[in-house]
Amino acid sequence: MLNVPPQAFPAPGSQQRVAASGRAKVPLKPGRSLMDWIRLTKSGKDLTGLKGRLVEVTEDELAKHNKKEDCWICIRGFVYNVTPYMEYHPGGEDELMKAAGTDGTDLFDQVHRWVNYESMLKECLVGRMAVKPIAAPKEISSTLSEEKKQLNGMLSEKGVLGASTKDVMLSYDWFQTDSLITIVIYTKQKDLNAELVIVDCQDKRLRGEIIIDDHSYLVEVDLYHAVQEDLAVNITEKVGKVEIILKKNDNIHWKMLGQPLENHNTFIKRTDRGQFYRKCKLVSKTEVTHDTKLFCLMLPKSTHLHVPTGQHVYLKQIIAGTEVVKPYTPVLPFLPLDFKEPSCHDGAHIYLMIKIYSCGPFTQALEHLQVGDYISVSNPEGNFKKSQVQTSEDLFLLAAGTGFTPMVKLLDFALTEVSCLRTVKLIFFNKTEDDILWRNQLEQLALKDKRFEVKFILSQPTKDWMGKEGKISSSLLSEFVKRSSKYSKVLICICGPTPFTEQGVQYLKDLGYSQEEIHAFTA
Ligand code: FAD
Ligand code: NAP
Repeated sequence: MLNVPPQAFPAPGSQQRVAASGRAKVPLKPGRSLMDWIRLTKSGKDLTGLKGRLVEVTEDELAKHNKKEDCWICIRGFVYNVTPYMEYHPGGEDELMKAAGTDGTDLFDQVHRWVNYESMLKECLVGRMAVKPIAAPKEISSTLSEEKKQLNGMLSEKGVLGASTKDVMLSYDWFQTDSLITIVIYTKQKDLNAELVIVDCQDKRLRGEIIIDDHSYLVEVDLYHAVQEDLAVNITEKVGKVEIILKKNDNIHWKMLGQPLENHNTFIKRTDRGQFYRKCKLVSKTEVTHDTKLFCLMLPKSTHLHVPTGQHVYLKQIIAGTEVVKPYTPVLPFLPLDFKEPSCHDGAHIYLMIKIYSCGPFTQALEHLQVGDYISVSNPEGNFKKSQVQTSEDLFLLAAGTGFTPMVKLLDFALTEVSCLRTVKLIFFNKTEDDILWRNQLEQLALKDKRFEVKFILSQPTKDWMGKEGKISSSLLSEFVKRSSKYSKVLICICGPTPFTEQGVQYLKDLGYSQEEIHAFTA
């Protein structure tokens, strides 16, 4: 319908001919070539008649625009006013009119799905089809009949639990080429980013989860045919569109995407969604201190997962025949210094800094994991929001022992992405000098970045310790936690053993800091 290779434009006056695809091509009037069309689209002329406004189009409204002089067509949920394009269409006006006032996606796909109509018809975009809640499809079929008049999967009212339906405008669709399957999820959420999209594909089971505030939307399907291990995820942040691209194992036509699984096409509270685990390979285990190690885990190629700053994951192991789960907070392979990027710093790996306790069953089992072994890793959880830091001028990080782990990504984020920050201070409590994690890197970072300062406080130092000694207390906090100016915006983050965190929060409140100025990391 909209395919316009330059050679498809016959000379003015030539006879109608049949293209290789079997589709009839008609002679175009002079001044109606592809280049003429491109010129028209760049002229600034209002081609939709809506003066640049985008509208939501109902099926009834779409149906009204079914004449040559007023023709709207829907392709993949987007509605275009193709009236000005009529004379430029190499397939002719009649061909275009077959889809007038309706969803022309299937017709378009039959003829030439490879054409970049989004770019060709950009200036003709009227808006999106209004999402009308319908029952979740039993089978996700690509055959034309059932889905022709609607998007392939709009969220059913049944699928929305604990959320107001009027705010939920999620839908998905899918299409295929000879070698690829693409699932498109439309969230209508601005600022969707990679951390909010979690995709896994294991043994033909595809699971795509989109996080929207404290809710989660899930596409979960038992695929019709096998796909290759690696998948790609593209996110168009501005419009909240997610594309999951799978490679077919065999280049055969799929009659349907697959069978929906139990929670397919639902939008529910995150907390009501069961935990999902994938097996990750241990690729290295390196010493950080005498009792703490940095574990590097490799995500499967079929997983798209970025753990957000301040969130943790759960590890699952079978210990003595019992499934045991413990939380761990991913760190970076190193602090943001001028070191060379290691090859592993690529989103395909998760780094965990874990203290091994001689009498700790879980960490003892981790200690016995060998490079090449697999361990189950969950989706991320946690209630820390980056926005808490984004407006801060003074950031204080109070960490005890491995309570340092959430501070690693936080430090990186604060120093590299928060421009309004004036001071970042880490007050790091440990028993002895030997227990200090990444001491060397922290000292180097303080030398490199003037905004950053680190204070080590030891509870059980040796005699030759020249630094500060003690435990968390009101006097220590009043000495080290100070606003850089009377009205500066402060955020204080605290993490360590539960009593340490609880006491710290109480001392801070006693010192006059408000609840909003304190974030305590807990399970
Ligand atoms: P445990 O059996 O839990 O024992 C650990 C230590 O506590 C031992 O010394 C033990 O003797 C002592 N102990 C156990 N029970 C008691 C008790 N009732 N009273 C007093 N002492 C007791 N740890 C990390 O190393 N890195 C991380 O990134 C990390 N992130 C975390 C994130 C969150 C949100 C939370 C809540 C915890 C995190 N932890 C982290 C801690 C981790 O989850 C485990 O608790 C830890 O690894 C110990 O597990 P374990 O089974 O080996 O030892
Ligand atoms: P640790 O070495 O035992 O202690 C670190 C420092 O904290 C020491 O100076 C210690 O002083 C002090 N401390 C310990 N208990 C205290 C208490 N009750 N009151 C005041 N100070 C106390 O610490 P660790 O073994 O690494 O343990 C780290 C803890 O952080 C674990 O409990 C882990 O679960 C927690 N953690 C939580 C999260 C999270 O919630 N997101 C993330 C990571 C880690 P002493 O000499 O008096 O012992």
